[in-house]
Amino acid sequence: LSDRGRELIDGLNPQQRAAVVHQGAPLLIVAGAGSGKTAVLTRRIAFLLAERDVTPGQILAITFTNKAAAEMRERVIDLVGPRAAYMWVSTFHSTCVRILRAQSGLLGDRNSNFSIYDADDSRRLLGMVIRDLGLDPKKFSPRGVGTQISNHKNELVDPEEAAAAARSGGTDTAAEGDPTALTVAEIYGEYQRRLAAANAFDFDDLIGETVSLLQRHPEVAEYYRRRFRHVLIDEYQDTNHAQYVLVRELVGEEPAEGGGGGTSPSELCVVGDADQSIYAFRGATIRNIEEFERDYTNAETILLEQNYRSTQTILSAANAVISRNTGRREKRLWTDSGDGELITGYVADSDRDEAAFIAKEIEQLVDYSIGGSASHTYADVAVFYRTNTGSRALEEVFVRHGLPYKVVGGTKFYERKEVRDIVAYLRVVANPDDQVSLRRILNTPRRGIGDRAEACVAVHSENLGVSFYQALIDATEGRVALLNTRAVKQITGFVDLIEGLRSDYLMSFGAVGGDEADSAVADATTEGADIGDLVDAIIDRSGYRAELEASNDPQDGARLDNINELVAVARDFSLEAAQASDDVDLEAPVPTEEGEPEPGSLAAFLEKVSLVADADQVPDEGEGVITMMTLHTAKGLEFPVVFVTGWEDGHFPHMRALGDPNELSEERRLAYVGITRARQRLYLTRAMSRASWGQPVSNPESRFLQEIPQHLIDWRRTEPRRAPRESSGGAFGYSSGGSGFGGSSRRTSFGAPDPSRARNKTVHYEIGDRMNHPKFGMGKAVAKEGTGITERITFDFGGNVGRVTLMTAGGLPGEK
Ligand code: ATP
Ligand code: MG
Repeated sequence: LSDRGRELIDGLNPQQRAAVVHQGAPLLIVAGAGSGKTAVLTRRIAFLLAERDVTPGQILAITFTNKAAAEMRERVIDLVGPRAAYMWVSTFHSTCVRILRAQSGLLGDRNSNFSIYDADDSRRLLGMVIRDLGLDPKKFSPRGVGTQISNHKNELVDPEEAAAAARSGGTDTAAEGDPTALTVAEIYGEYQRRLAAANAFDFDDLIGETVSLLQRHPEVAEYYRRRFRHVLIDEYQDTNHAQYVLVRELVGEEPAEGGGGGTSPSELCVVGDADQSIYAFRGATIRNIEEFERDYTNAETILLEQNYRSTQTILSAANAVISRNTGRREKRLWTDSGDGELITGYVADSDRDEAAFIAKEIEQLVDYSIGGSASHTYADVAVFYRTNTGSRALEEVFVRHGLPYKVVGGTKFYERKEVRDIVAYLRVVANPDDQVSLRRILNTPRRGIGDRAEACVAVHSENLGVSFYQALIDATEGRVALLNTRAVKQITGFVDLIEGLRSDYLMSFGAVGGDEADSAVADATTEGADIGDLVDAIIDRSGYRAELEASNDPQDGARLDNINELVAVARDFSLEAAQASDDVDLEAPVPTEEGEPEPGSLAAFLEKVSLVADADQVPDEGEGVITMMTLHTAKGLEFPVVFVTGWEDGHFPHMRALGDPNELSEERRLAYVGITRARQRLYLTRAMSRASWGQPVSNPESRFLQEIPQHLIDWRRTEPRRAPRESSGGAFGYSSGGSGFGGSSRRTSFGAPDPSRARNKTVHYEIGDRMNHPKFGMGKAVAKEGTGITERITFDFGGNVGRVTLMTAGGLPGEK
């Protein structure tokens, strides 16, 4: 080994080192959380570049999020220098977009300016298909059908195969197969035809169409095999069947005995942890890990057992929970970092109280007044919840406490209507065939093109087999039947707007019009051009800004802010691209590869916008904010301090999973993922009552919480102060410190006032009113907050009961 090579394996344990230097046979690294799987993958890439004559262009690394990809790339560049920038490090989806764009000439029915449809776009298109096929949208909802189509695509089942399966798969042998599945297959077929006509792919297509391309064109597959001599994949446990086949195609197979020709397979290295598979609902299957050795001849497996992330206490809790899952491979994860702090447990009255506890706890963790230096910063802290709605109570309280935080995936900037509208304009500029985007903006802002006119154009487009945009152009020339002159005039105005935007955009990017126009959109260079200008022009010329400015609806003010924000995002994007190209000039220039849109181009911007995922918004440490996100989004991350909320049966594990062993196992893996994100301190909280769909719901303690050995948990509060103990019937008080508390007494279900009692007698209280509560005795209303369902009144019952906050929804027990 060279000095550099030795440095790269320095500090690794023997198994990690073996994984980094391994050569040849397909390699599977399986290991529990925090054992350095991702770190080893990164080191391995650096080692390949530094020590094994591998060039960056020969490396394809696939990560689960764009952010993880960016971090891995940075890290490798740190280790071996800027030439590493030539590597392909990206998600499955981005990788496929690059391949599809580069090979768009072979696609036949799409060109390189294709649009990428997200779930919302797909649903719109499905809605059109379902309507045009004359089906009942109640029976065939775009959402429901979309899920089934997605499942087919994840399994690489095309519409014909889906139809064939439906014909043979009926439960009633007398009938002709399964009629519902047959109709879904029909919708699927029509949906695919429309996607192609719109020059668009949906998310699942990106994978499936790439597989299909590689299978139809062995020479292309061969090209990528020869190119990517090393394929490395993180989070392999969350790959689905389509992704599995894609990897097989990219890696290639050992040529059959004696059979010459073909490149030898590329070196494959995958890492994963079956216990962290949490995306079964998207078709992920741990089969891909479990069968790795059967899938790939000569495959080797390396186990990593030392954990470098968490304390032993945290690891013991995680191991205790996950060991309840059956049919798994037992792992012995250990750490030499010591026991560390006990886990803190807290039982809150309500989700609001849970949030308040977390806020106070964070304030103490970052308090500089104690001893001058705080033990933690805000950026050290993450709060996880089971479902997206879990952020609401936390946000309210954090705002009140002035705590800086960021909700990952909660804001969904790109899902706001106004932002989507403007993005639809951008997509139409890049790809006028994009029917979904076109129809979205046809009358947005309102320009008097009604549903009837739209329907006439749609019929014309269907009948003549021309794109919707061509049909609009035909309309301006009076060739669309049944359109009145007013509609023709308005459509002409719209087409002029789009044409104007397109030609200005192409001009400003220094491209010529005419035949080259289409490819120029994708290839336009950044010289003097700014996507921000284009966004600005769209907002102005479409009348979008004027409409919002004229409105006196305060919501429209917020919408105006959002579209201005989009202009800023686009300007930053162009600026960054320009800077990046300047920086690179200092080293060796990085030429744009086939498939990669020119940095700073509209195609590049749209690709970024389309593929942005929740997890990509995880704040960097420098932002100095508390991170809030769902447990699913937390995968792969780590934080010094972690709060995992909502440990209630029916909430986490989710209600849906309670009767289903497979779903329950998946929830338990989610618990394992959550716990193992913590490095030093872990808090587990549950609430006696939690707002769910606007109603307070009381759930018992999560079974997962009971699976954690009680000596690992320091119960800061085991029972809400107003909760009666089962045995003592009416004695109150709360206990701190966990000793002496069995699981059962903590499982006392008490939350919202007993609904049956409330129904008998409901009384309305104002501040100052006195109440005679059946359990707490006489009290006085001292504070009130919220309204309607969220209204809560705090009563002071004095004595050892003290202040108790009660939800007033549904009425309160007791007498005035
Ligand atoms: P997960 O299953 O959650 O994705 P992982 O197995 O990918 O976890 P990493 O994130 O790679 O684990 O590593 C966990 C932590 O341990 C990181 O902070 C990493 O830097 C550190 N680490 C890994 N290997 C070593 C080592 N040999 N020495 C010191 N620290 C290490
Ligand atoms: Mg990892």
